[in-house]
Amino acid sequence: MMKKIALLVFICFLAFISNAQDDYKIKSNQDLKVYNGGKSLPVKHYTESTKNKMPKNIILMIGDGMGVTQVFSGIVANGGDLFLKNFTNIGFSETQSASDFVTDSGAGGTALSTGQRTYNGAIGVDTDSVAIQNIREKAELKGFATGVISTSAITHATPASFVAHEPNRDWYEEIASDFLKTNIDVFIGGGLKNFNARKDGVDLTLQLKKKGFQVVVGIDSISKIKSGKLAGFTSEGHNKSMVEGRGNVLPTATKTAINILSNDPDGFFLMVEGSQIDWGGHQNNTSYIATEMLDFDQAIGEALEFASKNKETLIIVTADHETGGFAIENGNFKNGNIKGNFTIDDHTGTLVPIFAFGPGAEYFRGFHKNTDIPALICKLAGF
Ligand code: MG
Ligand code: MG
Ligand code: ZN
Repeated sequence: MMKKIALLVFICFLAFISNAQDDYKIKSNQDLKVYNGGKSLPVKHYTESTKNKMPKNIILMIGDGMGVTQVFSGIVANGGDLFLKNFTNIGFSETQSASDFVTDSGAGGTALSTGQRTYNGAIGVDTDSVAIQNIREKAELKGFATGVISTSAITHATPASFVAHEPNRDWYEEIASDFLKTNIDVFIGGGLKNFNARKDGVDLTLQLKKKGFQVVVGIDSISKIKSGKLAGFTSEGHNKSMVEGRGNVLPTATKTAINILSNDPDGFFLMVEGSQIDWGGHQNNTSYIATEMLDFDQAIGEALEFASKNKETLIIVTADHETGGFAIENGNFKNGNIKGNFTIDDHTGTLVPIFAFGPGAEYFRGFHKNTDIPALICKLAGF
């Protein structure tokens, strides 16, 4: 009997460690529904003019858990304006997965990366766990430079969906190994430990260097890289939240990646994830959502700054699902105060917004399924 109990405790312990990347789901006992406002961030407005009908470069930006209310929390928190207000081509995405009405970020990311719906927890594989080619791989095969950026570990579900093919989103070390099987040019995010402190003892950063990557740790050093292949690590595991003082990591990473990838005369594909909007939803924490939303919007600003001059770049901003059943019960544009509320501490099945800017943006208007988004991107960009 004691042995059985000991075994059970051990199994629970293993389950606990294997989910250590899920700590963000732990809710505080405090009531965090009110955001008391903060410093407003500068926002610029651009004219949308295009060189050709079809885009040459694609920047796909995914706000994890970013429903319409999350977007509006950013607008209120920032005194009424966001970079997102530059977008005039706006639609909706239905986020359901193959297995569930409410998707997880694995199936949600896979729908957006491959154009196929799969089961919750899958990374880049179909309902039979068979690998599906993703749009980044398609772009890579056409000679485009490609990149992936995230404010979570780079091995987490959303960025992983654009790189890896694994039946289980929790297999972080297998997902890290999958980065070596691609010809990706730039990736920036957390999760260094999944590359260099692994159960198998292999140091993947050495293999990355052999493949020609500059392996760089810390956003200040990362921001100095202007060309070549870049594996940029911003933390051992996940990055801090904005509330904890992450700083300018995502906008800086976005600017750096665009700078490097735009050296390729063939064009580029870049995926940028604002990962932690979702985590604010899981924690029912309005300040967390609003500050992550503002940070994601600043990254969108970097993309717009490039696209408005380049005129051949299509930016698509969307979400994999909504998180928290977030509602805004009251707010104040003058001081950025928001009184939020939540129906759940998990994802919901509601529609999420799609915003598009640049050549081909008009195709994203109206109602779509999540899987239509990569299909449209492939059609427009020719990969
Ligand atoms: Mg090329
Ligand atoms: Mg994510
Ligand atoms: Zn989530």
